[in-house]
Amino acid sequence: MARIQHLADDLVLIDADYNGTPGAISVYVLLGERPALIETGPASTVETVLEGIRQAGLDPRDLRAAAVTHIHLDHAGAAGTLADRYPDLELYVHPIGAPHLIDPSRLIASARRLYGAALDTLLGEPRPISSGRVRVLKDGDEVWLGSRTLTALNSPGHATHHHAYLDRTSGDLFTGDAAGVALAGSRYVSPPTPPPELDFAAWRKTLARLRAAHPQRLLLTHFGAHTWVEQLLTDLEARLNVRERLALEAAAAGLGEEAFAEQLGALTAREIAEAAPGEERRYEVMTPLRNNVLGLLRYAARPPRRGER
Ligand SMILES: [Zn+2]
Repeated sequence: MARIQHLADDLVLIDADYNGTPGAISVYVLLGERPALIETGPASTVETVLEGIRQAGLDPRDLRAAAVTHIHLDHAGAAGTLADRYPDLELYVHPIGAPHLIDPSRLIASARRLYGAALDTLLGEPRPISSGRVRVLKDGDEVWLGSRTLTALNSPGHATHHHAYLDRTSGDLFTGDAAGVALAGSRYVSPPTPPPELDFAAWRKTLARLRAAHPQRLLLTHFGAHTWVEQLLTDLEARLNVRERLALEAAAAGLGEEAFAEQLGALTAREIAEAAPGEERRYEVMTPLRNNVLGLLRYAARPPRRGER
């Protein structure tokens, strides 16, 4: 049995049970005339997600759409597998992400650099998707999913190819990684800062934009629904600022990966001990320290130029 949670009459959360860890990766099912997913989870958890879809009362063959917030493998890695199995499924994605759903070879190569051999058991490899099945959403475009009309909000910072999806009617906002990582029921939000596109200035703008949308509820991929909207976004911004400063100081001092990992690890452990005691391991699964270290050091060595935002 997959773990699922009903968040509204037409909205079900499936816990992908990533890495055997409950509460790490959410996949959202929107029921209604046009059954759809938001996020697919990684290729490695596709069977669990399909089981969850059936438990939600939906035959996966009736799925018509899957919209991914961005193409990182923990969010969109199963898109190709689902497209192979279900010929009526259309995939919605940010313009910058689309080419990598069609040909994931560069995505796989960069994930291999980050995860090594563990990639196969941890996330699995994404399958290519024929271009005819991929629908590009631009900022502000609306997409009909389930029985809702969602608006794509360009939301760079964590990644350049990131959309959040806003349901103006309910105030639900599917945030991907743009609103950070927070366990269900927790009041601790952690900033996921992997390489290679981390951009603090862009991320701060994104947070202002998310606030301005006045969401009632943030639906995080890692993990679940959060209603402490203002505080979460404020805390996330403060923690981003701390990490940006630390990274720049580390680069200025010529700190290596290991020494910086020690620093960032200690900071993260202190934050979690205070705000979510005992949950260090689950946060590590959702947002590994090494990825965060590499993203921050890369940012500090090569801050994104204005034109790239
Ligand atoms: Zn991501």
